[in-house]
Amino acid sequence: THLLARIKQLDPQVNSFITVTEDAALQQAQAADQLRSEGQSSALLGVPLAHKDLFCTQGVRTSCASKMLDNFIAPYNATVIEKLNQAGCVSLGKLNMDEFAMGSSGETSFYGASKNPWDLERVPGGSSSGSAAAVAARLVPAATGSDSGGSIRQPAAFTGLTGIKPTYGRISRWGMTAYASSFDQAGFLAHNAEDCALLLQATAGFDERDSTSAQQPVDDYPAALTQPLQGIRIGLPKEYFDDRLDARIGDAVHTAIEQLKQLGATFVEVSLPSLPHAVATYYVIASAEASTNLARFDGVRFGYRCEAPKDLEDLYLRSRNEAFGEEVKRRIMMGTYALSTGYYDAYYLKAQKIRRLIKNDFTNAFEQVDLILGPTTPNLPWQLGAKANDPVAAYLEDIYTVPANLAGIPGLSMPAGVIDGLPVGVQLQAPYFQEARLLQVAHQFQ
Ligand code: GLN
Repeated sequence: THLLARIKQLDPQVNSFITVTEDAALQQAQAADQLRSEGQSSALLGVPLAHKDLFCTQGVRTSCASKMLDNFIAPYNATVIEKLNQAGCVSLGKLNMDEFAMGSSGETSFYGASKNPWDLERVPGGSSSGSAAAVAARLVPAATGSDSGGSIRQPAAFTGLTGIKPTYGRISRWGMTAYASSFDQAGFLAHNAEDCALLLQATAGFDERDSTSAQQPVDDYPAALTQPLQGIRIGLPKEYFDDRLDARIGDAVHTAIEQLKQLGATFVEVSLPSLPHAVATYYVIASAEASTNLARFDGVRFGYRCEAPKDLEDLYLRSRNEAFGEEVKRRIMMGTYALSTGYYDAYYLKAQKIRRLIKNDFTNAFEQVDLILGPTTPNLPWQLGAKANDPVAAYLEDIYTVPANLAGIPGLSMPAGVIDGLPVGVQLQAPYFQEARLLQVAHQFQ
């Protein structure tokens, strides 16, 4: 009840929630109390959370921050939600985001932008904008997010939080609305690595309902947190440090390097030669996949339907035209173009080939080092509206986060200081399924 009151008091300014499920939360909390009084205890029993509004939640609106799904009540729970419920978590509601997870600022939401609690004039990052804003404003101690090109790590960096994007396939995508299926991965935003470790422990693992979920055994993440860092080798990609990086963020990375050296880490330079192509490659493939995934919203089976359609074509056309926002339409157009006959080879196929080169870059780098360190974002959180009419400028902000999604490796952003009243994040990336390593370093860095 304390947090529900806080949400009522503060969220009108922050706009991080789309739906607050007060009654259900109180019921879940009572059930958790009951279990506790019966002597049950587990780390997550009774812990309040809130979920990005693209995870299906049974009986609760799941809007993806789109007018298209404003009236959609999910008939089932996503696997992530189901597992967190089983662990005893209490859900306070559903969180704001960029429409269908397309964006880096939260401003493409049908429900209006979330604000950065550090400075209400600035963006909290995106697409998990509400997740970052709600946790940073201490309306909830941790939140789920999804990351297809940085949507957990970048908002975590912009709001002074720890955000983990696990290996592709580590957490089931079942019930998580698809944006770019070969990139989408669920994860968490929290105040520290320990909370992320507990949430990952409760949700990682194979799910037969997601054919891309991994069979790989799940490590003991909380146990890994305190393992000594002595001898750990960390790579610094030389391509990261050029004039596109805000020099103050570069300084924060160097301060982090000094701190990690004191903990016993050694540093070497590595190279990711295909990095300059990562943003273009990501946007071609992500848009292509989005155009396919969003074809299901046709006004027929669920979601928004236009008034009085003349015929089937008019129904499709007007339902989609009236209910999708500008950015979503832009992605559908780009994706359809990249996949069309005559352009497929030049764009989509080419992008897939570069994707392989980026994956190879990481494989080569990880022959020399255990982890890669760098900035999470090239710039500090920008003013609301500053990039709203310049999509390419917004896309370029994703330079440090999209490579991990292209390769499928895990990444984590951790807080590394404050510059002019705004938080800075640094990013760690690891080989496949080495989430424990990321959490171990992030835990001891704090
Ligand atoms: N900013 C990226 C995009 O707009 C990433 C989004 C995401 O990770 N969901 O596609």
